[in-house]
Amino acid sequence: MTATARLVSMLRSSSSLSVLTGAGMSAESGIPTFRDAGGLWEDEDPVSLASVDGFLANPARVQRWYAERLRGVMDAQPHSGHVALAELESELDVTVVTQNVDGLHSRAGSTNVLEMHGNITRHFCVECQDNTGPGLSTLTSTVDTAGSAPGLVQCTLCGGLIRPAVVWFGEMLPHGVFSRAVEAVAESDVFLSIGTSSSVYPASSLIEVAQSNGAYTVEINVAPSVAASRFDDSITGRAGQVLPKLVSELRSTVSAPETT
Ligand SMILES: [Zn+2]
Repeated sequence: MTATARLVSMLRSSSSLSVLTGAGMSAESGIPTFRDAGGLWEDEDPVSLASVDGFLANPARVQRWYAERLRGVMDAQPHSGHVALAELESELDVTVVTQNVDGLHSRAGSTNVLEMHGNITRHFCVECQDNTGPGLSTLTSTVDTAGSAPGLVQCTLCGGLIRPAVVWFGEMLPHGVFSRAVEAVAESDVFLSIGTSSSVYPASSLIEVAQSNGAYTVEINVAPSVAASRFDDSITGRAGQVLPKLVSELRSTVSAPETT
């Protein structure tokens, strides 16, 4: 029996599934990874772009950089793997815990998404926390215009600087998100880790939670991660191929007439 067949069988007898996704999931939609070689950080100092100190030292540069990333995210589309995860909600309870900030799971239709590292499509004022005014997308139309230095995006209420609602180096995870993730994973019969190297926090701790609660755990990656041996099963392949196949096999199994 293949790992995929075992997973289908487990899902068929399960009522709840939790899924952890990482950069590999977004990469299949053409969104560059943060820390991998060739990723967005390669030519930049991460801390200068993704910390409060770096932001305050050069807010225009950081706002412009995030505006360009935001433009890439808005141009990207959820892939068939995102869509398949959303479709699984018609079969069982699904919680998606993601380390990605692009919002693609929600755009694909997933309704129960916990964004560990925030969401680049949202923003807030560093002074009054208002998040309803114009965001960094207002910069995208002015980026690269000849000769004109990009302006600052400031809060329409208090004039404070607007920043993306993502978790920066040295910052806490959004309040309550991690505890909700732990709760969801602890109640799940099956735990999937997709497109993430599961060796570092928070992935590593969520696997432990899943295992200590007896969940069946599976890693899905284009190549087995360093933590692959910690899972019950490992499926090698792109999420965009593996997950739709999973959904279709699950549905064909479920809808097949009972044989006696
Ligand atoms: Zn403000």
